Amino acid sequence: MYSENTNNFDNTSEILYPPGTITSATIKEAVKICSTPFYLYDGSMIEKKCRELKRMPNAFGLTVRFAIKANPSKSVLQLIDRQGLMFEAGSLNEVKRAQNAGIPLKKILLTSQDTVYGEDLDEVKIMMTSGLNYTICSFNQLKNIADFASVNNTQLSIRIHPGMGSGESATRNTGDLYASFGVQKSELPEVFSYAKKNGIKFTRLHVHIGSGSDPDKWKENVDKTLETVEKHFPDVTIVDLGGGFKVARMPDEKSADIIDLGNYTKQKFTDFYFKTGRQLSLEIEPGTFVVANSGFLVTSVIDIKPNQNNSFTFYVLNGGMESNPRPLMYGSSHPFYIVDKNGKLIWSDYSKIKNSSKGVLVGRCCETGDSQCLNPDGTIDPRPMATPEIGDYVVIGGTGAYCSSMAPFNYNSYLQAAELMKLNDNSILLIRKQQTFDQLTANELSIEDNSR
Ligand SMILES: *Cc1c(COP(=O)(O)O)cnc(C)c1O
Repeated sequence: MYSENTNNFDNTSEILYPPGTITSATIKEAVKICSTPFYLYDGSMIEKKCRELKRMPNAFGLTVRFAIKANPSKSVLQLIDRQGLMFEAGSLNEVKRAQNAGIPLKKILLTSQDTVYGEDLDEVKIMMTSGLNYTICSFNQLKNIADFASVNNTQLSIRIHPGMGSGESATRNTGDLYASFGVQKSELPEVFSYAKKNGIKFTRLHVHIGSGSDPDKWKENVDKTLETVEKHFPDVTIVDLGGGFKVARMPDEKSADIIDLGNYTKQKFTDFYFKTGRQLSLEIEPGTFVVANSGFLVTSVIDIKPNQNNSFTFYVLNGGMESNPRPLMYGSSHPFYIVDKNGKLIWSDYSKIKNSSKGVLVGRCCETGDSQCLNPDGTIDPRPMATPEIGDYVVIGGTGAYCSSMAPFNYNSYLQAAELMKLNDNSILLIRKQQTFDQLTANELSIEDNSR
């Protein structure tokens, strides 16, 4: 553990936006702990987001689950656990990682596209006897678990295809015609008769329309889901509306308004109660909203060169698509900040500093698309920025969700980057060491190994 001596703080140090506790001085301290590239998380901001979510208006109770896949790092899960959130796992290994962080099974809901068999299925059953909540996401998943569930009188959760969806890109819309998640409405009659025959009750209904969804679509889904509960699910007491709350990473983007969504949902749940006499408890499972803007990817400028016709300059960073895949995967934009070697902030996308030129930030991978200045259509536009020198730091904001967890980090045989977290008391912890070269090659076998 390393403690920042606040007395040494440079008074000119500026906060990196969206405003949390990470300043240019924090970057200067962090690079003493770990060489670039690394992720730096603002623990206070994660805590703040947890508090915001717990205050979401609700009619008859609220459970907030953190979607582990957004950032499964042990210390991140522990910090979120301390804020009293529950967890949503998308795979058996995510359940195990949460356990590894000290989180008990009863706080975890497993909702997975991975239909497990054999030993893995046995393991899920054992976990269920210790309190793991399980969502069936297909008819086959129900069949696999039916005997166990009826013998043990287990209450099950069912994920249905919502019949509508919305995501920040088509690839993250989990409710359209081309999305394979959940049980289809057309399968429900068969599923119900099978469940009835086996004495199985569904007490939680689960829907998730997509990531970065349009708030109006999210509301529309509340109405549709309540209709479905009324028509088809007499035993349901918990409605899990998934995650997907949009987060503004760039200055011109807009975040979902949790209070507004909560007020809408509260009203609809109240209306439902007056109509049916049933008090439904609300569950949500955001990932992005909790961690996205707490993350900063800290890289160094390692090269500077002109483009083909000298119309702009490339700045080569030692962290690109292998640490932040979102521009290449989704066409997402991320804000960036340039901190010079002395810890002075010389550029921020949020506070336009004068005398800016235009440049293109690129990574080290052999892809033209390895750029933080990538447009959704794959073209690149130079972005306004100050002119950094080799050795200055370029910090990419909005990288707390789906970056360290989703990055193709070993592409070009680069090593998975380290992770740091700044806590409330200003200490900066190393929460994941950088991968070593030995770890990169540890499981490889030579031709000779095989011929023995
Ligand atoms: C990914 C996912 C979430 C979290 O989505 P965010 O957009 O990160 O909030 C929640 N629930 C399910 C089932 C998911 O697949």
